[in-house]
Amino acid sequence: MKPSPMAAMTMLNNSMPKILSSVLLLEQLQRDYPKIDFVAANRFSWHGGSRVVSYRPESLSSEKSTHTLLHEVGHALLKHADYTTDIQLLQMEVAAWVKAHELAEAYGITLDQDHIEDCTDSYRDWLHVRSTCPTCYARSLQINQTTYRCHNCQTTWHVTRSRLCRPYRRRNERI
Ligand SMILES: [Zn+2]
Ligand SMILES: [Zn+2]
Repeated sequence: MKPSPMAAMTMLNNSMPKILSSVLLLEQLQRDYPKIDFVAANRFSWHGGSRVVSYRPESLSSEKSTHTLLHEVGHALLKHADYTTDIQLLQMEVAAWVKAHELAEAYGITLDQDHIEDCTDSYRDWLHVRSTCPTCYARSLQINQTTYRCHNCQTTWHVTRSRLCRPYRRRNERI
């Protein structure tokens, strides 16, 4: 399961235009991980259980597409499937970034740590919003996939099953 970094390292050097890097990285990943299906779609994602990584071809020119691609492949290699709690999902997201780091190292790519911290912070913000009691603002426990209950005031509330589709920027981020 180890990537063969030799070819990739020569191709993916920093002097190349970014659009080429992501396209070449995708091709290299397809060669190195033939068991993963890379499917063009309207966004980057990992489909647990089916070993499908979807990618957005138009976005391969974007600066962070190598990050997203490696992150989704990280989910695939870690065989992430379903989750029952928001905290599990957060742990999966963080683990996928750790795996993305390993892959990037093997391919000789430097990941932008600020971008990754923004992503993981946005997951934590998301978790914070979902787990905060709307009545008394206590941090609360999740009962099942869609329900939280406050241990302080017994308020119960529901959250959607919608997972994090894309990282967003921190609200307090400075330009
Ligand atoms: Zn993810
Ligand atoms: Zn409460």
